[in-house]
Amino acid sequence: MSTRINLTAYNKQQLSDFCSELGLPRYRADQLFQWIHLKNAGSFGEMTNLPKALRGELEKKAELKGVDRASVSRSKDGTVKCLFRLHDEKLVEAVLIPEFFDDGVADRLTVCVSSQVGCVFGCSFCATGKMGLFRNLSTGEITGQVLAMNALAEAEYGKRITNIVYMGMGEPFHNYTPVVDSAEILCDPLGLDLSPRRITISTVGLTRQIRSYADEQRPWNLAISLHAADDEKRNKIMPINETLDLKALRGALEHYHRTMRQPVTYEYLLFDNFNDSPEDARKLAGIARWIPSKINIIMYNSVEGVTLQRAREDRLDRFMAELTRQGARATVRRSRGDDIDAGCGQLAIREQDGEGKTIAGKSSGKQKSGRQNPGKRSGGEKTVPDTWN
Ligand code: SF4
Repeated sequence: MSTRINLTAYNKQQLSDFCSELGLPRYRADQLFQWIHLKNAGSFGEMTNLPKALRGELEKKAELKGVDRASVSRSKDGTVKCLFRLHDEKLVEAVLIPEFFDDGVADRLTVCVSSQVGCVFGCSFCATGKMGLFRNLSTGEITGQVLAMNALAEAEYGKRITNIVYMGMGEPFHNYTPVVDSAEILCDPLGLDLSPRRITISTVGLTRQIRSYADEQRPWNLAISLHAADDEKRNKIMPINETLDLKALRGALEHYHRTMRQPVTYEYLLFDNFNDSPEDARKLAGIARWIPSKINIIMYNSVEGVTLQRAREDRLDRFMAELTRQGARATVRRSRGDDIDAGCGQLAIREQDGEGKTIAGKSSGKQKSGRQNPGKRSGGEKTVPDTWN
């Protein structure tokens, strides 16, 4: 078993401490940071501004466990989905979502990143939730996805990414420390130097973490995956609600707003004949009044084996009209990349075995990523651990 330290999992302070222990000057820590979190280096040999002897010493003491791009799928609407292979052959996905000016030039380039391999929360509409949880991603496995997608954005659209959303595979607040460390790194002036207002972290409503996020004055936008506006319906599609119900969520959000004075965004997938009635809209508008907020209504792309379907357009119109009547700020978001299974709730890996790894013979960069068959659960941790509350 390797006793070398995985430097990609370190945050900036830990990297700095590591360099101090080696007796290196401060600027070496900055160089290492940039090689890992800006240039996405896969080996110490690439770090050409470090002396050869130091590279050799680093090789003995440390290692870099990042992400390898395994395959890329392109949608006709410009969305690009990437499958990444991790050091233990597990797989995760990230999505690049361009929004275009009228002249066809890319305006906003948003990357949706994964925070875990699989997810334990088992929301009934979500392909990732069908997998169970295999493991958390490290800080560097999260920043590595962003850097790889940034390189892809530059190659495909001639510009850097502009926004990041933590809404890929996994529940970000269930992997809290690597997620906030990665967001800090992505905003670091030595890294991609993104504005904190360009980053959004979403959660199904883990109340303890929402409170910590506020108490620690975390500057990134907060989004809540709500998807139903009363406990009865939310219990049916999001098992977390049976433990942390809407009352608990409200308490945590009020604390967040008292502490941060920031609004929150509610994500609401609109399902046909389930949560799309005018009565549902009135309840959602009521939730939107808890603290200053806006609502993203998302048109769902179907997932194999899931009975919930996308709402009809006439029901969407009626729903939006009621929200407007109630004074709620709401926008409709069309799910993107549906022809490559990159839509909201669709990220999961088809080519994995029972341990979340690449199936033999499919690890040569030729994987076709897509939905897993939800009827065949693949062996990750399925019991929600008692660690979020
Ligand atoms: S919606 Fe999010 S929290 Fe729910 S199962 Fe999917 S990844 Fe997990």
